[in-house]
Parts: sequence; structure tokens; C-alpha cells
Amino acid sequence: MSDQFKARPHDPYNVYTSPNEAILCLDSFQSMYTQMLCGLLNRDQVLRIGAIFASGLLRAIRFLQLNWKLLVHDIETGTLNPKITDPSIRECIFHLLQPNTELAHFIAKKCSAENWEGILKRIWPNTKYLDVIVTGAMAQYIPTLDYYSGGLPQCCIVYASSECSFGLNLNPMSKPSEVSYTIMPNMAYFEFLPHDQAEPPFYDESPSRLVDLADVELGKEYELVITTFPGLCRYRVGDILQVTGFHNSAPGFKFVRRKNVLLSIDTDKTDESELQSAIERASLLLREFNTSVVDYTSYADTNTIPGHYAVYWELMIKDPEKGPTREVLDRCCLAMEESMNSVYRQGRVADNSIGPLEIRVVKNGAFEELMDYAISRGVSINQYKVPRCVSFTPIMEILDARVISSHFSPATPNWTSERR
Ligand code: AMP
Repeated sequence: MSDQFKARPHDPYNVYTSPNEAILCLDSFQSMYTQMLCGLLNRDQVLRIGAIFASGLLRAIRFLQLNWKLLVHDIETGTLNPKITDPSIRECIFHLLQPNTELAHFIAKKCSAENWEGILKRIWPNTKYLDVIVTGAMAQYIPTLDYYSGGLPQCCIVYASSECSFGLNLNPMSKPSEVSYTIMPNMAYFEFLPHDQAEPPFYDESPSRLVDLADVELGKEYELVITTFPGLCRYRVGDILQVTGFHNSAPGFKFVRRKNVLLSIDTDKTDESELQSAIERASLLLREFNTSVVDYTSYADTNTIPGHYAVYWELMIKDPEKGPTREVLDRCCLAMEESMNSVYRQGRVADNSIGPLEIRVVKNGAFEELMDYAISRGVSINQYKVPRCVSFTPIMEILDARVISSHFSPATPNWTSERR
């Protein structure tokens, strides 16, 4: 909304397909619809497709899946759908839109195909890469983006937050698993809290342990602490980073995970990266069924005794005739449990303090509805991240109303006492 954006000088490396009116429109449907329309009209000029986070880009693809017929109609007739009521958008699209039967038929042909593999490259053939963050919690979207983009490179350029911009990826073509962000020392005063495995009260969080930017050590993990120009003082961002190297004296970091523990039933503590690894391990069983997990979240269900982890999965089953059986999904529950840390497995095997892990498969679009709900409550569409753990009643209701099948671990995971 700032004048810097509205009155930006022309930059040949940063030309958008959409007019400002569409980008700045506060109604997310009207904004997305018009931006998609402009992207289709200018399809040959598109060199880069992106969103801040991977989840936003997938939402745009889903939008195309749901609305391509309306968009094709507009292109064919040269008229704008009446759902777009914003007068400033109508005014500028009026000048851009002319009937184009050839383009309309082309898009209808591509979008009506059953198989959307590589759809981005087919509609926007000159695209060189996806400009999107797929590190951290976004890593789980890599296979889905690979599928829709036909394997276009995914470039994670920035590491930033609402509070401050932190770092840049100086090797933008590096593989997502190898991305490091070099801190920009002029953006804020950066300090680092060494992140030991020990938990409070043994974990010393006092300011005297803070390390300055140039003094962090290679290979070590730290929690990021910032003091910003607008006035945050020693604010803990909540991200855990690992030092991967230095550019001059500025350290580069790999994003490891958000700090907070996600799930806990008893003495177990499962964090975001452990949950992510468990999902990845279980997903391997789905491969031979041409199926992948497109989104997930979790819930520590203590309504049962003992409580158990419930994990909501939305699946992409490419060939519904040959999708995974119940037995396979049961085994996925066990595979997830096998991947959990030893305190979890001890709780399952020796202490009986945790019940069998449950997978609740939700119907397609459930996570999209979750996002709609968050946006309706004021979350910015660009900053939305799927919560990896949920407990808020309205969100649980949305998910539970969309469960199509539920599966439990058929056995206990491996665990042997490490004490001698
Ligand atoms: P927000 O303030 O809502 O925009 O979110 C900022 C948070 O998003 C950061 O503290 C990180 O946890 C996450 N984030 C931002 N950029 C990246 C990135 N490049 N890789 C991984 N996580 C990121």
C-alpha cells in the first residue's frame, strides 16, 4: 500500500503482469481472479512465477483449477466476470481485455486435461523458475510444486518476517535442501542465543549468553534475537538457525525450524522438524500408489485415554483407481511412529502413556478452507502458513467435518531401553 510500491520506477527485472489495482485490492477473490486473468493474457511474457511462501503459490494453482472456466469465458468474450465489482479493477481491465478465442481455447484445452502435471510450464512456457520460499516448514510442498511445475527450479531468495528482513540467499540456484541465508547486518542489530538441546530450567536464556553476529560458530545452532529500528528490543523471533558459513564477516544460516514444540501428550515433545520427517518417512509408502501428502496438520488428542497424536492429511491421489488401501494408510501411522524420538516411543511401548497414532484423511480442499477461515479473520494471504498443530475449536470443526477416513497404528514402534 506504500508510495514506494505505488510510485515505483520501472524496473525491467521486476515487471508484474497485473496492474496495481488488482494487486492491492483487499478482496482476496477479486484480487486473485484479476491477477490470474492478467497472467493468462500475458502468458508468453511470463518469465517467473512466484508467491512469498509455497503455500500461497499452491493456492493460486488451486484457484485456477476451480475458476478456469470463468476465466476462459472472460477471455473468449472480452468481458469481465460480474463477481469482480471493484470499480478501479473493472476500469483498468476494460482496457486490457479483448475477445481472444484462440487463447481461450488454448487455456480451456490445457485446464480441462485430467492430468495437471507440468501445467505451469504448459500455460506459461517461458517461465525460468519459481520464486518462492520452500525452506523450513514450506519444504513439504516441494514435491507438489515439482509436480505442477514440471520440475522448474525453486529459488528461495529471502528470509524475512513482518518485523524485519533478515537475510538473502546468495546462491539462488542452490537446491532447497542446501539453501543458506546470509544475514544483512544493516537491517537490524542481530544477536544469537546458543540453542542447546537442554530445555528450561536447565537452558540458560539470560542475555549474557547472547552472541554477536560476527561471533557465531560454524555448525552451531542459535535462536535469532533482533533489535530493530522501529523499536523492538531483543525480540526473540522464534526461529532456530544453523551457521553454514560466512560471506566476509556476515554469517550464513540454514533455517532449521521454529522453536516451539508442537505436540506433547506426556513427557514426549515433538517439534515441527520431527513431525515433518515422520510425514516424509510415511509418505514413502504412498509412492507406489502415485499418492502424496499435499498438506498436513496435527492435534494432541487427549479425549482418549491415553491421549494420542492425530495427524490430518490431505492427499493427492493421481490415479484414484489405484490409490492406497486402508492397510497401507494404517502402516503409514506406524511408519510415522517409528520416526518419532525415543521419548515418544518409550511412551508408546514401555509406559503406555501414549495411544496409537491416528491419521485422519480429509477431503480435497479442506486445507484451503482452513486458509479461507484464517483470511476471514484478518490473516494476510501472503503471510499465511498452515498451522502444523491445531487446537482452536473452529479450526478443529472445519477439519473434523471433512474427515473421510481414519486410521490407527496397527502395532507399537520399536523401542529399546537405552539405560544399561
Ligand atoms: P511473518 O512475520 O508472518 O511473515 O513470518 C515470518 C516467519 O516466517 C519467520 O520468522 C520464519 O519462521 C518464516 N520464514 C520467513 N522466511 C523464511 C524462509 N526463507 N525460510 C523458512 N522460513 C521462513
